[in-house]
Amino acid sequence: MSAETVEMPVVGKSFYAFCKKCDTDRYHTVLALPTDTSAKLQCEVCKAKSTWKKAAPKKATASGPRGAAAKAKANAAAARSAAHTAEFENLAKSLESTPEKAYSMKVAFEKDTKLKHPTFGLGYIRAVQPDKIEVVFQDEVRNLVHNRR
Ligand SMILES: [Zn+2]
Repeated sequence: MSAETVEMPVVGKSFYAFCKKCDTDRYHTVLALPTDTSAKLQCEVCKAKSTWKKAAPKKATASGPRGAAAKAKANAAAARSAAHTAEFENLAKSLESTPEKAYSMKVAFEKDTKLKHPTFGLGYIRAVQPDKIEVVFQDEVRNLVHNRR
């Protein structure tokens, strides 16, 4: 379709575009370029004259869906944040009476440990791998190294 064409017609040269009268794409004679984004064309088959317009920049038509996508993204972020806060509070409650341990990368930690980190503060270990732990801090979940001997 001509709407996808980004190249401008050139006066005196043929330009392939949609002809309404022929109801198909035809070669047109370019008669004039009234503006930077339009052209006066004449179909080489039926001789019908028409005005061709360059397709509008994508952002003009995409602003709606993109705005909605940004909104959905923000909502998703808010939902994640709420879920994170709930997880942190649940862990804080369930591990309330457990002793807190100072974080060190040389110590091998276990799941459900209350961890005191010098920079990030209090966190709760929700997953353990041989060389790293997943810690739920108040602001976010961080992967920390441990068990480095
Ligand atoms: Zn035509």
